[in-house]
Amino acid sequence: MIKVENLVKKYGSHIAIDNLSFEVEKGQIYGFLGPNGAGKSTTMNIMTGYLAASDGMVEINGHDILTEPEEAKKCIGYLPELPPLYPDMTVIEYLRFVAELKRVSKSERSGQINEIMGMVEIEDVSERLIKNLSKGYKQRVGLAQAIIGYPDVIILDEPMVGLDPKQIIEIRELIKKLSKNHTIILSSHILSEISTVCDYIMIISKGKLVASDTPEGLQKLMKKSTEIELTAFGDTDKAAEILSEIENIQSYSFEDASEENSIKVRILTEDNMDIRKELSVAFTSNDMPVLSMNKVEKSLEDIFLQLTETVDEDSDVDEEMIESEEITENTESKEEE
Ligand code: ADP
Ligand code: MG
Repeated sequence: MIKVENLVKKYGSHIAIDNLSFEVEKGQIYGFLGPNGAGKSTTMNIMTGYLAASDGMVEINGHDILTEPEEAKKCIGYLPELPPLYPDMTVIEYLRFVAELKRVSKSERSGQINEIMGMVEIEDVSERLIKNLSKGYKQRVGLAQAIIGYPDVIILDEPMVGLDPKQIIEIRELIKKLSKNHTIILSSHILSEISTVCDYIMIISKGKLVASDTPEGLQKLMKKSTEIELTAFGDTDKAAEILSEIENIQSYSFEDASEENSIKVRILTEDNMDIRKELSVAFTSNDMPVLSMNKVEKSLEDIFLQLTETVDEDSDVDEEMIESEEITENTESKEEE
C-alpha cells in the first residue's frame, strides 16, 4: 500500500533522513516513534507530498508521490504537526472548504461532513470560529480535515500533543475506530501513546529506522539478554573476584549500594542464561551473603531508550538495523510549503 525506499532528506549538510526504507500494509495502525528531531515530521511531510526528498522514492497505492502527486495525494489524509486551520472560519465553513478542495462531490459533501463531525464529536462547535476553540477541539477539527474524502491512508503527526489524558484516550479510541476502514500512521515521541494503539511500531532515531516490529516483538527482541541485579554484603573487589570465576557472564557493572558495607551489581548474562543459582552459591560460599537478587525485565520504555541512544555505537540491536548504503552527493533539495 505504501512503499518508502532509500529516502534521504538533507537540510544543507545536515542529514535529517538517512536512507529510510519501509512498507506499510493495508488496514493496520503504524506508529512512528522517536525522540524529537528523529525525522518523523520530515518523513511524513515527504510521504504526503508537502516536502521534496533529496533522494529516494515514495509510492502510495502504486502512485509515485513525485511523478503522480495528484493520484497519490488522493489516497492520503494528513494531519501535520501544525494543522492548516483557518482561524477566522467557523468549523463547518472550514470543513466545507476542505471537502471542496478534496473534490468531494457536491451531493456527498454535507452528508460526509456531518458524519465526520459526529465521529470526532465536534457537532457542538460547528458554528464556532476556529480561533476560539480549545486545543483539544482544534486537534479534532484537524483530524476531521484529514478524514474528509475518506482516504485509504490517514497520516497523523503527533496527534496527541498538547492534549490532556482524557482527550488522549478519546483520540486513541477514535484512531482505533478509524482503523477499521483506513490504514493509519501516527507519530509520537512518547512510547505509551503508541504502544497501546499501534499494531506495528517503527522506531526512528537520527533519521534511521532502528527497529520495526509489533509491540510484543520488540519486547521479545530485547529479552535476548537477561540482566540480574544483585546486592550482597562485602566489597566490590571481592565481588569482582567472585564474578570472574562464574561462567556465562557477558558483562557487569557496579552501582551505588544503598546500604553500608554492601555492593550492588548489574550482571548481563550470555544467551539469556539465568545464573541466579550459581551467583547465590558463589557469593554465599565466599562469605558475601546475598541480600537480594532480581531478574530485570526490560520494559518497552527501556527498549526505546536503548534503541534510540545506541544507534551510533555498536550494540545488541545491530542486526535489527537497516543497512545504510553510501549516498552519493546529490540533487539540491526543493522545499514547498
Ligand atoms: P521530528 O518530527 O522527529 O521531531 P523533524 O523531522 O522535525 O523531527 O526533524 C528532523 C531533523 O531535521 C532535526 O534535526 C531538525 O532540526 C531538522 N530540520 C527539520 N526541518 C528543518 C528545516 N526546515 N531546516 C533545517 N533543518 C530542519
Ligand atoms: Mg515532528
